[in-house]
Amino acid sequence: MTFLVLASVVGVGAWQAWGPASRALGLEGLGLEGPGAGAPWSDPPEPSPTPTALDAGLAQRFADAQAAAAAEGVPLTLTSGWRSADEQQRLVDEAVVTYGSVEEAHRWVLPPEKSAHVAGLAIDVGPVEGARWLEERAAGFGLCRTYQNEWWHFEPARPDGTCPEPYVDSSWGWQ
Ligand SMILES: [Zn+2]
Repeated sequence: MTFLVLASVVGVGAWQAWGPASRALGLEGLGLEGPGAGAPWSDPPEPSPTPTALDAGLAQRFADAQAAAAAEGVPLTLTSGWRSADEQQRLVDEAVVTYGSVEEAHRWVLPPEKSAHVAGLAIDVGPVEGARWLEERAAGFGLCRTYQNEWWHFEPARPDGTCPEPYVDSSWGWQ
């Protein structure tokens, strides 16, 4: 009896140790997690080494621009900021359906490993009126419009405050 109780306590401890470790190693979804509902590792996720939010500096630059726009009565909202790799891949998949090929899709949506959104270093803004307002003043806020075909997409300026010439589309930045 004593042995059985001890064994069950050790068993629970082992599962508790295994749970967070499996998460940290990115093993979720591989069928290695053990029991699901009510398992001891159904607590919030561990901190991730990859970005899980918009870069703080970029968020501040946008907040400054938004406040200045509001002071002039111009609507300026964030329509997309940081995206997870999964979200980004879903957008690529949708774009392939929309545009008919991977090459054409990448003119609009980069794969996760290339996307500044996944790195937390890009914002999409709206509406058109607000985006135009921001485009004219972007440098003053340390922001750059990066792609000629995406009026809504902005990234942080270089450390010296300059912007690269806008690429024709997103595929030009890396192909
Ligand atoms: Zn974008």
